[in-house]
Amino acid sequence: MNALSAKTIEFIGHPKKMLINGRWEPSVSGKTFPVTNPATGEIIAHAAEGDKADIDKAVKAARAALEGKGWSTMTPSERGKLVWRIGDLILKYADELAELEALDNGKPFTVARAADVALAADIFHYMAGWATKLHGLTIPISVSGGDFHSYTRLEPVGVVGQIIPWNFPLLMAAWKLSPALTTGCTVVLKVAEETPLSAIRLGEILQEAGLPDGVVNIITGFGETAGAALAAHPMVDKIAFTGSTEVGRLIVNAASGNLKKVTLELGGKSPNIVLKDADLDVAIPGAANAIFFNHGQCCVAGSRLYVEHEIFDEVAEGIADLANQIKLGNGLDSQTEMGPLVSSAQLNRVCGYLDSGYQEGAKALCGGKKREGAGYFVEPTVLVDASQQMKIVREEIFGPVVVAMPFKEVDDQLIQQANDSIYGLAAGVWTRDVSKAHKMAHQLKAGTVWVNCYNVFDAALPFGGYKQSGWGREMGAAVLAHYTESKAITINIG
Ligand code: ADP
Repeated sequence: MNALSAKTIEFIGHPKKMLINGRWEPSVSGKTFPVTNPATGEIIAHAAEGDKADIDKAVKAARAALEGKGWSTMTPSERGKLVWRIGDLILKYADELAELEALDNGKPFTVARAADVALAADIFHYMAGWATKLHGLTIPISVSGGDFHSYTRLEPVGVVGQIIPWNFPLLMAAWKLSPALTTGCTVVLKVAEETPLSAIRLGEILQEAGLPDGVVNIITGFGETAGAALAAHPMVDKIAFTGSTEVGRLIVNAASGNLKKVTLELGGKSPNIVLKDADLDVAIPGAANAIFFNHGQCCVAGSRLYVEHEIFDEVAEGIADLANQIKLGNGLDSQTEMGPLVSSAQLNRVCGYLDSGYQEGAKALCGGKKREGAGYFVEPTVLVDASQQMKIVREEIFGPVVVAMPFKEVDDQLIQQANDSIYGLAAGVWTRDVSKAHKMAHQLKAGTVWVNCYNVFDAALPFGGYKQSGWGREMGAAVLAHYTESKAITINIG
């Protein structure tokens, strides 16, 4: 086991506070809640338990920062440089951030360093370039009998409430904050109660980068209290949420009071389809990565695996072989390839789905249960003998569990089956046939389709879902529209 760095020991050694108006504050109630290490179940820190009163303070700070001087008068170039600097500082402190992610979320340090932290820096660097390129249009209009000059301006949407989950704590904060800062908005960020540490460290980084007070406020606390208060707050102009579809619906209801703008990045049950002409040396490890990356705690997880029947056994057993080799352990151990699930609640939820699968007749080719001992570990699992109507095929498990099912041939029925879900976040196709690849990519109802790859993310690509997987897009140029208002100005020059 790698020992914790002196920096991290110091960081977790005193109660974590919330960033409000540039100061680190305890909660108004004085309450705190424990933060646990999911690999051991031990308490590692205490965080301030923010609720409605703290959200109110933070929203007022964000509103004042939006309307006052400093942030609103900063030039686009200065803003872009500041956003870029945040990306640089994330890289400077990469080891420390990855260590906090491993400790708090359970994921392996090496994965957090290579994926979560690197992608978090990338999105700030990518967005920084947009700060100087947000411009409107000059538009000729056709009103007869007048002479008009019309143009549009892109203005920040205002105070944005952002609510994020625990599966990629730092990266989700980065996806949310970077477009907000680039467009000149101000933010109240409510982080997940399971994993507050890396976002608190990010708050310190924002201050070091020179962000004016009140532009980003960070609240730690629970969903039903702090999160709900943020979603309902009348002085918030937009809410951006990532989490479960169930809570997404609550957010929409809460946001309806002042009809704040809402974007949602919700659940998934992504189909991953292997054709018999695929290069199986690539497809088998690819399909394993599609489900086992981040212990299956990914909204895009390739959790429904459809395999052409002639190669079904080879693919399912190939993935099971790989699953059996995955080394489970503490995320801080350099040998670990898969850590624990994030919490005991998540462990119970995943085990509940396994039980339901067995009751409905599915069988585990490998894994299939909780690992005994301390920590919230579930063995990577391949389920077979499943059918489309089973709960394990219809609902998001959010754990290292893939359901493999054979199909006869590539036809409309296969596409209909792949699209037979309330979700539409991602899909995968493995084939050497370029025509089939394109055709299926067009037919699949998903915001992202990967062909002969999976889990490829880039700051430049829009990400989001069809159907109940969400509203709007994150990343890429597409996200900027959700953080700006387009104002049309018409001047009579007659
Ligand atoms: P998960 O099931 O992955 O934990 P959730 O949707 O429950 O996902 O949580 C995602 C985020 O939403 C967390 O920050 C959580 O605190 C917050 N949250 C949970 N319930 C509510 C709610 N009623 N209103 C606002 N935010 C909530």
